[in-house]
Amino acid sequence: MPLKLLQFGLSRKYSEPRMFRTPPRLKDKYEAVIIGAGGHGLGVAYYLARDYGLTDIAVVDKGYIGGGNTGRNTAIVRSNYLTEEGVKFYAESVRLFSDLSHDLDINLFYSERGHFTLAHTDASLRTMRWRAEVNKHLGVNSYVILPEEIKKICPYIDISCGGHLPIVGALYHPPGAIVRHDAVAWGYGKQADRRGVEIHQNTCVTGIDVKDNQVVGVQTDRGYIKTNRVLSAVAGYTPRITKLVGLRTPITVQPLQACVTEPLKPWLNSIVVSASLHLYVSQSSRGELVMGASLDPYELHSERSTLDFIEGLADHLLQLFPFLSNIKVNRQWSGMSDMTPDFSPIMGTTPIRGFYIDSGWGTWGFKATPVCGTTMAYTMATNENHELIKPFNLSRFENFAQVGEKGAASVGH
Ligand SMILES: Cc1cc2nc3c(=O)[nH]c(=O)nc-3n(C[C@H](O)[C@H](O)[C@H](O)COP(=O)(O)OP(=O)(O)OC[C@H]3O[C@@H](n4cnc5c(N)ncnc54)[C@H](O)[C@@H]3O)c2cc1C
Repeated sequence: MPLKLLQFGLSRKYSEPRMFRTPPRLKDKYEAVIIGAGGHGLGVAYYLARDYGLTDIAVVDKGYIGGGNTGRNTAIVRSNYLTEEGVKFYAESVRLFSDLSHDLDINLFYSERGHFTLAHTDASLRTMRWRAEVNKHLGVNSYVILPEEIKKICPYIDISCGGHLPIVGALYHPPGAIVRHDAVAWGYGKQADRRGVEIHQNTCVTGIDVKDNQVVGVQTDRGYIKTNRVLSAVAGYTPRITKLVGLRTPITVQPLQACVTEPLKPWLNSIVVSASLHLYVSQSSRGELVMGASLDPYELHSERSTLDFIEGLADHLLQLFPFLSNIKVNRQWSGMSDMTPDFSPIMGTTPIRGFYIDSGWGTWGFKATPVCGTTMAYTMATNENHELIKPFNLSRFENFAQVGEKGAASVGH
């Protein structure tokens, strides 16, 4: 062990600067309270402080920062969605991500890999063509490629898929990337803190006070806070928070599972997704294969993972990459995904004044962290929904204006 590391470990003075402060108590009053110290909550706090000078903010989390889905996801970033609203929104996030390490002064290990969505049938190839056309029209780099080209970029793939479901083509999206998810939360936390935002871990919101349809305060297990602005950024816990203000949403909560293998020498340079096989896989900078599937097919408020999931996933992985039959799975886990009927988020103002929502992130919300930060900060600072998130307002479910993204978000995340 290097001597400097040992000295640091034994030092009681923390000679290295802490990433963020830990204020001993909550104040009685803040200009805004953000519930949830995941990437989204911390991102909004950062942009509120940086762009609007609003620093009198408490970000409260019932656990620790990044301990929710931010620290559980498989870190895929892309913008090759299906709808115009979705493509524009995620493209802005990819743009922000590409310079985020610099902006937050922390190495996020942002790594462009290229993203394949495999098609095993003519019907899915048709959807890929549709997506490619929408993407191209909106300036997003994505196009359909044939099996020979897939094999050139990803030589180890078995195009015949063991003879079960041969690959007939793919949507290829060169800017598809992976990025260290925990570093994103820590980077936003650090920079929000530097600007005066308070982060309170181990602080659970148990009530929200509303008078004359206006938010006036938040009850936590560490005391009461007066405030006129509250953002709920709690992903899989959204129904519990919206219940506190009597708001109904169509969100259901379903587990999404993932796993990593033992580290291997680098061999997979792209992100490979197959909706037909319910599988996606990439290789991390540490060499682990990071893998997942589609949602568990039932509603459950739990973060447990199952043997069933690993069995199904291994079966499908071996159809694409049979040579992996002897590798070991090191860890598996799951997160609670806040699913919407149209696979698009629910963002912005609500019928309750001062209560804002950033939710419906299901299996696809990590990639949206920076754009949620900028657009929700704008919305909270001005009380006007940002142009990019207008289509995602809760009111769309009353107005029959859903934004159907299932064709691009079901397994691809
Ligand atoms: C296995 C898995 C794989 C995924 N893969 C991808 C992917 O590859 N790409 C992608 O874009 N997305 C992916 N996602 C989705 C993505 O992880 C989430 O959409 C995103 O991380 C949500 O971030 P968040 O900050 O909104 O919520 P979270 O990170 O979940 O943070 C919410 C926080 O709220 C806190 N909280 C809850 N209730 C309370 C309360 N009452 N009081 C105080 N605090 C509270 C929680 O403790 C938590 O820390 C995946 C999700 C999972 C589970």
